[in-house]
Amino acid sequence: MKYAFPGGYQVSIIHDCSVYCSSECWEKDREFYELNPDEASEFIHWEGSPIECDHSDCSNQIESEYGENES
Ligand SMILES: [Zn+2]
Repeated sequence: MKYAFPGGYQVSIIHDCSVYCSSECWEKDREFYELNPDEASEFIHWEGSPIECDHSDCSNQIESEYGENES
């Protein structure tokens, strides 16, 4: 598994109910993912409301690439 940052898109790491804002945040829980390598994958938040990073030491918001839906 590799973590690329293509074309300026913000790639986040998602795991079941946890979303990390960056690979640095993901690194903080790395031990878990080394034991469970299939649990994490790349994730680009295309549109909708910002998602808050689930890492307890981080309060970053993951902005969507296309912004919030207007509905
Ligand atoms: Zn974070």
